Amino acid sequence: MDSPLPVAPTSPPHGTANPNEVLHRLFGLSAFRGQQEAVVSHVIAGGDAIVLMPTGGGKSLCYQLPALCRSGVGIIVSPLIALMRDQVAALRQLGVAAAAMNSSLTGPERSQVRADLRAGRLKLLYAAPERLLMPDFLEMLDGVKIALFAIDEAHCVSQWGHDFRPEYLELSGLAVRFPGVPRIALTATADPQTREDIGRRLGLEDARLFLSSFDRPNIRYAVLRKEAPLRQLLTFLRAHEGESGIVYCLSRNTVEQTAAALNEHGIKALPYHARLPPEVRSANQDAFLTTEEGLVLVATVAFGMGIDKPDVRFVAHLDLPSSLEAFYQETGRAGRDGLPAETLLLYGMQDLVMRRGMIEQGGAPAQVKQIERGKLDALLGVCETVTCRRQAILAHFGEILPAPCGNCDNCLTPAETWDGTVAAQKALSAAWRTRQRFGVGHLTDLLLGIKTEKIERFEHDQLPTFGVGTELDRKGWGSVFRQLIVRGALEVDHENFGALCLTQAGETILRGKESVLLRKEAASGSARALLKKKAGRLEVPAADQPLFEALRTERTRLAKGQNVPAYVIFHDATLAAIAAARPGSEAALTQIPGMGASKIERYGAAILSIIAGA
Ligand code: ADP
Ligand code: ZN
Repeated sequence: MDSPLPVAPTSPPHGTANPNEVLHRLFGLSAFRGQQEAVVSHVIAGGDAIVLMPTGGGKSLCYQLPALCRSGVGIIVSPLIALMRDQVAALRQLGVAAAAMNSSLTGPERSQVRADLRAGRLKLLYAAPERLLMPDFLEMLDGVKIALFAIDEAHCVSQWGHDFRPEYLELSGLAVRFPGVPRIALTATADPQTREDIGRRLGLEDARLFLSSFDRPNIRYAVLRKEAPLRQLLTFLRAHEGESGIVYCLSRNTVEQTAAALNEHGIKALPYHARLPPEVRSANQDAFLTTEEGLVLVATVAFGMGIDKPDVRFVAHLDLPSSLEAFYQETGRAGRDGLPAETLLLYGMQDLVMRRGMIEQGGAPAQVKQIERGKLDALLGVCETVTCRRQAILAHFGEILPAPCGNCDNCLTPAETWDGTVAAQKALSAAWRTRQRFGVGHLTDLLLGIKTEKIERFEHDQLPTFGVGTELDRKGWGSVFRQLIVRGALEVDHENFGALCLTQAGETILRGKESVLLRKEAASGSARALLKKKAGRLEVPAADQPLFEALRTERTRLAKGQNVPAYVIFHDATLAAIAAARPGSEAALTQIPGMGASKIERYGAAILSIIAGA
């Protein structure tokens, strides 16, 4: 944020600008998307709003445009410094007087922002909640004309969400202190509890709710049984050479080991977790967001909230996330630019046992545990489903997708099922006959008829179930047990070393009163084929490729010169459109999506000369 404030006035000092005109002239976009137009006109007219839109849906415009069209400064509350920085850089590229107020500023920088604010020079100010709520800051705002308050990442106000921030609770006071200033809360978290909390806790019960579809059609979903995670990950990454992506792991050890292993295999990767020294963490984050293209960031969930890098091409999970909401949020960081992106979730029996254990042994009150169980079970349901994963995910968010999506692993390679009734009975009987005191490993030995020391010690080779399960191998039984746990026929006793106990549903199956359809695990050959089958990329025809590359090189040069991420200057999609259309004049450049007046003024001549020279 070193560059001086842009001077071009972005809205008439008094009165209201036309949002369509601003969208076109300033942002270089031809049309609103989805609910954007409705939100924008509602807020320009002074209404309060709650906006629920998936990541990449275009939430920023919902508050940026009304702020630009109303008189006064728009104040955007955001919990993340990296996000503020990128948004401010992008707005300044568009010629908008934007600034941020957070703990990363030096004293003089802070005074400058205050002076600009007081003098009415700012159109948009991003602020961390704890800064905004400081008494002297609020006092200063009393004397300033405010266009609106936007509360970004509004799910932070909810304890049900995964990112609860106590400071957010105090934002409800804004309504009292600044009556008549419209407030707009935005989030990509869709579950009903969080939604309700946002309304109640921010005093937005009467705000109009704008609910968009949560579908992200450009993201491909695939879930595979975890076998050799590193090998599976490498196969997946080979299809993404030169692209940026995130690999999520549960523990910082796995993060460190995975990042090291990827580098050994020639894939550029950096670790990110909460225990790294702050300077290393922010350097790695910067490398991923700003300075390097085609980097893999291996991270715990500590990474990602508010990351608005648009060209993340893949997200892989080496461990099971805690809930369907978390999974959707984390995978949602891929493909914000709308271009094809891929996700991969590896999961196995251990993940399931461990996640259940984390809930049971966690310190949460019973009521919260109940909710956590439900959210984990929803994710497990998506992992085990044999039909379209996207339909299953969206159904959880209360949305009905009328037809299978054609862009998930189950749609692309239909999963097979088999009648597992007898196998289920054998597995359940093994648990029953050993008095429900043993875990999967021992029960599998029993079914396979393996005389381990433990089998002999407990004389389990004398049981009728000993050796009755040779039709399946160890992996096969692992899959049967896992699916029985997910469907609630077996319960893991976490107090007792993971012993498996029958539930009522399990007894019903054991007594032959219910049949069981099980998912056939993809044979490792077809799993590998799936991992290599990549979603399409940005289509740049071979004939346009040299020009496209020349434009990218120029973009890198410009970005380095200004110390901003490349995508803040232009998105790939904009460069591809230029390469295809080869505009010959500045007037023709205005027809390219992403080419607003300020970008044409700054970069138009350079682009036209590259086109002319191609
Ligand atoms: P969110 O905050 O909802 O995740 P963003 O506001 O960052 O989404 O927008 C995601 C991407 O979509 C950005 O690259 C943005 O430029 C683009 N975008 C937003 N609105 C439009 C629109 N009306 N037309 C074209 N692109 C848009
Ligand atoms: Zn599908």
